[in-house]
Amino acid sequence: MSAAPHAAAPHAAAGPVTVRVPAKVNVQLAVGAARADGFHDLATVFLAVSLYDEVTATATSGDGPTVGCEGPGSDQVPLDRTNLAARAAELLAARAGLTPAVHLHIAKNIPVAGGMAGGSADGAAALLACDALWGLATPREELLELCAELGSDVPFSLLGGAALGTGRGELLTPVPAGRFHWVFAVAHGGLSTPTVFREFDRLTEGTAVPAPRASAELLAALASGDPDALAAVLPRSNGLQPAALSLRPELARTLEAGVAAGALAGLVSGSGPTTAFLVRDEEAGLKVAAELDASGTCRATRVTSSPAAGATVLA
Ligand code: ATP
Repeated sequence: MSAAPHAAAPHAAAGPVTVRVPAKVNVQLAVGAARADGFHDLATVFLAVSLYDEVTATATSGDGPTVGCEGPGSDQVPLDRTNLAARAAELLAARAGLTPAVHLHIAKNIPVAGGMAGGSADGAAALLACDALWGLATPREELLELCAELGSDVPFSLLGGAALGTGRGELLTPVPAGRFHWVFAVAHGGLSTPTVFREFDRLTEGTAVPAPRASAELLAALASGDPDALAAVLPRSNGLQPAALSLRPELARTLEAGVAAGALAGLVSGSGPTTAFLVRDEEAGLKVAAELDASGTCRATRVTSSPAAGATVLA
């Protein structure tokens, strides 16, 4: 690989580039039986929420990406080349024939190993930040393809908004979504997504797992912006919830505490252990968050809204 003539690229950024990227919650997560390759077919509805990481890309004179991370849970984030942000920089540089001479600083706010796609978000953010830093102006479709190479949840982190995901979740179709308000209860410790899928396989062994299908009722509720309609479908919409609860039974208490505090509905976010609560408005969210904080059933709370924009370069 040749040294990167970054400054010569016509659209290269003059200084560091910062990208803001949202967390997601799966308002539906229908899981099929394990395939021969070990993956599961999914029908999932992703929703981006206003809880963000920020990734700043700065040019260096090194021969590979370096990573720094600050914020809650940052001690759990790998700083080597297994970090999805570093892998994104390497992937984009290889495609462009550049040396990934970049430092990626992650300001972490998305719970680590929390079922909110924090690592995927950083991968999408790093891809967009390096694209701007290096002046590549890679077409959107190609960026989405690179995202899919990095991981199933990465394309949605770039796209944001609300989208139906099929395949392993990487084949996206945007769907309409009204505005909703959410409280997230961050759990003590994380849960590994592969472990939760293995528990799903164990719990469903010997049963006929139906092919995953998007719920028309859920999509209509999401489009309507009516929180009561969405609340009616949420408690049974995450197919991984039984597996997450089996591994972390104490999450049932968090779900009960959120609903007792006035949430319209609660569910496990993705593979957990973060739990998500739909609330009527921001004021209700602040009350639910305060009661959850006082309940001792979670580590922290975040009050958010949806839909949020996907990965965005900050001016
Ligand atoms: P998902 O919802 O996509 O299943 P998650 O939100 O549960 O993922 P992540 O926060 O993405 O989980 O972290 C999963 C693991 O990925 C971490 O334990 C960590 O080892 C690794 N990882 C790699 N890059 C990152 C990153 N930038 N931020 C956080 N974790 C990362």
